[in-house]
Amino acid sequence: MNYKKSLYNLLIPYTNNETIIFNSFTGAIGKLDKNTLKHYNENQFSETEIEILSKKGILIPVDLDEKSKINSERKKGIENNHAKLFRIWPTSGCNARCYYCFEKGIKITNMSKKTADDVVNFIDNTLNEEDVLRLEWFGGEPLLNVEIIDYIMDKLNIICANKRCEIQNSMISNGSLITEDLVLKMKNKWNIQSIQITLDGYDSTYNQIKNYYNPVTCNFKKVIEAIKLLSKSGIKTAIRMNYDTKNYQSLVELIEFLHIELSGYKKLIYYVFPVWSSTDEYAENSYSSTTIADMNLLSLFDLLVKYRMSTIKAIARLNYKAHACQAWNLHSYAILPNGDIAKCCESYNQVIGSVTQGITDIDTYNFWTTSILEEKCDSCIYLPLCQGGCKSSYFNRMPHCFAFKPIINEILKWYVSYLDNQCK
Ligand code: SF4
Ligand code: SF4
Repeated sequence: MNYKKSLYNLLIPYTNNETIIFNSFTGAIGKLDKNTLKHYNENQFSETEIEILSKKGILIPVDLDEKSKINSERKKGIENNHAKLFRIWPTSGCNARCYYCFEKGIKITNMSKKTADDVVNFIDNTLNEEDVLRLEWFGGEPLLNVEIIDYIMDKLNIICANKRCEIQNSMISNGSLITEDLVLKMKNKWNIQSIQITLDGYDSTYNQIKNYYNPVTCNFKKVIEAIKLLSKSGIKTAIRMNYDTKNYQSLVELIEFLHIELSGYKKLIYYVFPVWSSTDEYAENSYSSTTIADMNLLSLFDLLVKYRMSTIKAIARLNYKAHACQAWNLHSYAILPNGDIAKCCESYNQVIGSVTQGITDIDTYNFWTTSILEEKCDSCIYLPLCQGGCKSSYFNRMPHCFAFKPIINEILKWYVSYLDNQCK
């Protein structure tokens, strides 16, 4: 069989004699010695090299069109008719004032029962028998409007039972309002399976960044206790550590602390992510953050792996993604507290319809849901890891490319050196 090189091979100089080769489609990662690198560059391979490199997808059959495969899987993901995702904002109000909040200045609105009825109708009309209903409670702080979550869940539980729809329920919360009773409700009534809680630093740094209106009742210690309650109840808790170059040292302290304090607690997922303020008006704000992944981030990854709080595989995010993010999906909606619909929470200003009228701005909806990429993405070597990036970035300051792109070579070197050390 005749072979050609995959479009998705990255070569990264590693040591004097070795070059890392990574295929962003198959995820294969390895090292080429000088000799094999020469063969690779000259396209002159031995039988053994062809055998090994073709198994890894680094060499592929001449008639294989990888890009078509990637494009068709992205299209399939976008057009998935079976899963329906609704990010619901019970309120735009929040009890914290993070400096990086992209909703700064937003009008505070609590969802009314009338709007909640319309939300339920909209969801009911979108759901077919045996669909998967994916709910994500967002805000503001969603737990400032427990009553409306109760109200909506009571109705959706009945609708989904009748339509034999599975509910996958998650929440994004700062965690400061979580009590034992609330965890019981989350578990038994709302059937929340996972929650994301952000920790921006250790103790006083966290408190300073969150800047709660009531720091006596809402603070770092309270949130740590909440995480323990969630873990004990079996709700999967993703602890997102927002990295802004200024809080590096505090995140080191945080990881050191969590590693001991939460050791033995199950169903916890830790990850670090650069944080951005995403709207133009914050560019002038001295607190705004447009953090770019850097070597500090890599040190934090290293610490998480060292303490077994994550795995190198999970943290490096080098896996193929079938499509970009849920906001591209035909059936994915962010529902604001007044019933307006947007495609992504980060682009909440861009209203494309409402729960009473449905989608009214079809052109914008089509822009979000097209699987066709712009030229720079179509020909991008990282396409299998990214699938076209963040659509919100066309409307605000969100970065377009995947967050770890600026340090992808360093991540790959870190990954390989870690494997090298394990083999010693
Ligand atoms: S968004 Fe950036 S990294 Fe992603 S495919 Fe497009 S150009 Fe590549
Ligand atoms: S911010 Fe960007 S990547 Fe995130 S959900 Fe919105 S469109 Fe997708």
